[in-house]
Amino acid sequence: MPLFDCSNPGDGAPSALAAAIHDASDRCVACGLCLPHCPTYRDSLNENESPRGRISLLAAAARGTLPVTSALSTHIDHCLGCLACEKVCPSHVPYGALLRNGRAWLNQNHPGTWRRRLYRSLIRGVDVPGAMAMAYGVARLIGSLPPGSRAARTGLGSAVHGLPARPRPALADPGDGRVADVALFRGCTADLDRPALNAAIRILRAAGQHVSIPRAQGCCGALAAHAGFADIACRQRLRNNEAFEAAAPALVSVASGCAAELRHDHPRPGAGFPAVYDVHRYLVEKTDLARLALAPLPRTLAVHDPCSLRNALGGERFVYEVLARIPEIRLVELPGNAVCCGAAGDYFLREPARAQALARSKADAAREAGADMVVSANIGCALHLSAALARQGSPIPVHHPLWVVARQLPPARDPC
Ligand code: SF4
Ligand code: SF4
Repeated sequence: MPLFDCSNPGDGAPSALAAAIHDASDRCVACGLCLPHCPTYRDSLNENESPRGRISLLAAAARGTLPVTSALSTHIDHCLGCLACEKVCPSHVPYGALLRNGRAWLNQNHPGTWRRRLYRSLIRGVDVPGAMAMAYGVARLIGSLPPGSRAARTGLGSAVHGLPARPRPALADPGDGRVADVALFRGCTADLDRPALNAAIRILRAAGQHVSIPRAQGCCGALAAHAGFADIACRQRLRNNEAFEAAAPALVSVASGCAAELRHDHPRPGAGFPAVYDVHRYLVEKTDLARLALAPLPRTLAVHDPCSLRNALGGERFVYEVLARIPEIRLVELPGNAVCCGAAGDYFLREPARAQALARSKADAAREAGADMVVSANIGCALHLSAALARQGSPIPVHHPLWVVARQLPPARDPC
């Protein structure tokens, strides 16, 4: 089922979205096998909070047999979009695409609240250079306020409590005129985790790759697509298509959420857009990791599997394979990896209480596993887990896996 088929003139029209919803929901045989895998159903035991229930709600609303109410919208809003349901569905219901088309349809058929309109403006703002870094700075400031203060007691205040400082060394483009082997996606998250991006450049170069970082790129569109803002998502997708067209045979992202989004259909498929990889998969499949001379690291790392990697891309094992190149490292799967951590794009801001409950069990698991460090291949998850550990007073840091690997390389002789 096409998701926001941006090349289609009818894209985004209510009738096209309704047809896409019917198409997907017709595949559901209501077997219920997905229910035990759904975090919101397990928490509530409410059918409306399950994948099967949400499919029925959206299908009935799109057919006009169920009125679109705030209660209906709320059940759809509560969905994490983690795709644990899609992964286990024997009928291959494309739940992720159905959810996005459903949210786009709801945006057009349910009067938006002032919060929705504000949210839409914020998503547009993601495109402004430096906006994410500025937003992170403000969030960190709010999160550092005393626990009793008014701002700290708001949902946002508790969601962002204890966010760590993110060092921002310069992101250097190592281009020297040679044809690139691989293009690096920085999107709008580059300002949040430049250490991870710089680590990726160092490792790719050490593995013999020539890297380019096209300047015209922007947000991958995931935030807008998850929220059902098809016009914004399509515009962002189109810009990246132009930025990366013929840039290199492959495109890698250090954020698995961005890689999953970039893997979706593009407005001009086959027009030279590179093959998209999560960076760990690219390193394992396309480079010679034996070239990396890594120093030993006798530490225990708990590896968090982001849903975007585990359920959307299906490539979580590559993170372990890259990290395992470090001598003496001890890798453990973070217990409960099959369940979403609650970050889920913007979910941790929209639904802070639910998101924090999910993150709390991850923080508990990391402490019980005796981890010296947690690693996560998705920047949003890393920030969310880091805040959860800080709320518990735990000193366990959370980093990107490649940040760990790059620190074990011989000292850099270049600015990356
Ligand atoms: S979504 Fe798939 S697993 Fe869930 S009830 Fe429908 S057919 Fe069954
Ligand atoms: S995407 Fe996740 S939260 Fe949403 S219905 Fe599926 S399993 Fe449940």
